[in-house]
Amino acid sequence: MIYLDNSATTKLADEVAARMELWRHESFANASSVHRGGQRARVTIEDARTVIASSLGAEPKEIVFTSGGTESNNLAIKGYAFKQKIQHDAWPVIFLPRTEHHAVLGPAEFLEQIGARVYYIDVDRDGRVTAEFLVAILKEAAHDLSFSVPPLVSIMQANNETGTLNPIAELAALVHDAGGVVHCDAVQSYGKVPFSVEELGVDMLSISAHKIHGPKGVGALYLNREIEIEPQLHGGSLDRNRRGGTESPELIVGFEVAVRLALRGMEENSRRLTELRDRLLGGLGTIDQLVVVTPNVGALPNIINVTFSDAAELDGEALIVGMDLEGIAVSNGSACTSGSIQPSHVLSAMGLPPEQAKAAVRFSTSRFTEDTEIDRAVEGLTKVVGQMRKYRP
Ligand code: PLP
Repeated sequence: MIYLDNSATTKLADEVAARMELWRHESFANASSVHRGGQRARVTIEDARTVIASSLGAEPKEIVFTSGGTESNNLAIKGYAFKQKIQHDAWPVIFLPRTEHHAVLGPAEFLEQIGARVYYIDVDRDGRVTAEFLVAILKEAAHDLSFSVPPLVSIMQANNETGTLNPIAELAALVHDAGGVVHCDAVQSYGKVPFSVEELGVDMLSISAHKIHGPKGVGALYLNREIEIEPQLHGGSLDRNRRGGTESPELIVGFEVAVRLALRGMEENSRRLTELRDRLLGGLGTIDQLVVVTPNVGALPNIINVTFSDAAELDGEALIVGMDLEGIAVSNGSACTSGSIQPSHVLSAMGLPPEQAKAAVRFSTSRFTEDTEIDRAVEGLTKVVGQMRKYRP
């Protein structure tokens, strides 16, 4: 199987698996226990916290371990909103683009159901939030903002379907000028493009281990020391009053190793991923009526999303299944929504017609992807689309 679905998840790096295995055999103590085993687990977790904090230019105490990107996003958005409601008896107004991952849209929709006001920020044809769009929506919401607590703006750094990067630093500065708080979902960009939380100017930022060859089921939320949130898991051993539950040293150690590997090789990997992207684009360019959705500039190097101008006569689901039968794993949007025949909400928000949004194919590479796999993927798509066109009614 040629695996080009690395935005959905990545394979565990050997070094990560080895360190996790070692930990599993060495100790199983609870990091909250006072005996030596517990203390060792605590030290291991705190060491990992320091490495992950420093990868973001943050302080260790600003890192909360979670079960992954979904929980980090929920903790940031609901945690902030509930804290405001409890302290000031008012929900913050929430702003976000419609192109966010469901793990951001979901908590915002939930808060809307229980009384918060949610505004959606427009995006351009590339799926990018611009300063103009942000300023316009803040202006539109001026009435709601005038009697509310500081609003929350959540904008992803890189989109999981298209790879489009948002100008977070510029947008965050505008939000702060308007008295707001910024959360950024950096699940796709972390480890692929260099940044620090200070450069971005964000107050909260979500990351996840399994997108960078770490284990599934662990992630982190960066929480600026000034920001208070209400835990979403109460009880158990609370991490500085932010999240209850017994931490998994094994997963956290795996996360730490994945982070070290990603950071160490970032420049080289980025060069390699760009080479793979150019090779893929070169090959795909020979397919008739192919439309490249991912923007040319200002996008992650490892995601290429394409569709077809004759999409109305192609079957999107069958494209992905056809590729699977060719032994190539790709996706037609966020893995979390696949199985649904709805056109991708991201591509729809970018203004693509529903047929084109339904016929999208997302290729996502990793540092383990080989040139020959790219060539096979191009051959595969050429064949699948060719057959579909040949036999269409
Ligand atoms: N945010 C983005 C942009 C993602 O791509 C994903 C995963 O697909 C998530 C959040 C959810 O992360 P996790 O799978 O770690 O819960």
